[in-house]
Amino acid sequence: MPAIEAPKTAGSLPSPSKPTPTFSPDKVTVVFVLGGPGAGKGTQCANLVRDYGFTHLSAGDLLRAEQDRPGSQFGSLIKDCIRNGDIVPMEVTVQLLENAMTEVVDGRKKSSGDNGKPAKFLIDGFPRKMDQALKFEETVCPAKFVLFYDCPEEEMQRRLLERGKTSGRADDNSESIKKRFRTFVETSMPVVDYYEKQGRVVKIDATPKPEAVYQETRKRLGERLGDGL
Ligand code: UDP
Ligand code: MG
Repeated sequence: MPAIEAPKTAGSLPSPSKPTPTFSPDKVTVVFVLGGPGAGKGTQCANLVRDYGFTHLSAGDLLRAEQDRPGSQFGSLIKDCIRNGDIVPMEVTVQLLENAMTEVVDGRKKSSGDNGKPAKFLIDGFPRKMDQALKFEETVCPAKFVLFYDCPEEEMQRRLLERGKTSGRADDNSESIKKRFRTFVETSMPVVDYYEKQGRVVKIDATPKPEAVYQETRKRLGERLGDGL
């Protein structure tokens, strides 16, 4: 006799068992890159791509591309969320990330460019909410650790307003910035705290100039991973 019996609700199916992630962490390395808006995630990711051969996937960039894709059913939803500094429903973002990862992994297989080594991804600006974190690790791939860029709000605001002069981004204005900061503190910091409690966060002070932040990033990654990067 089984120890636990499935509930006998007429007409309903037993709840599905925990899904297996699409990618095994032995074959695919995922590093989440978090930090407030304007902390410098994108800048540091570009450095890491150059020196360590990561593939950089920015959740925000993927959402903006989907927003602009002709025929997308999510265009206006994404547009509204971004302008208001809200988090797009996780199903959309997780699926976009999984699609982008699949494309890279399949491409490597076809060109036999992987030499059996894991594909390495920097997932930038994600997960920004607990539900996304749990869903992604459960269904797409468990992450190796979180790189967290810590920066005071005044400095981030200065950078965003500067970037807003040329970025063309709908959310680099003081109204949207205020909302993004609020979402970051209320919704995204709990994600950092969750991983911190598990000892899975590498926290970097992102206040100095980009080159100094990058030197510190390299040092801390070396300490954490040795040559295993
Ligand atoms: N966004 C989201 N879910 C994510 C990542 C981004 O909904 O997982 C939305 C959110 O509205 C956010 C915006 O995209 O404010 C811009 O994100 P991006 O990462 O580009 O901003 P950054 O942190 O680089 O300033
Ligand atoms: Mg960014």
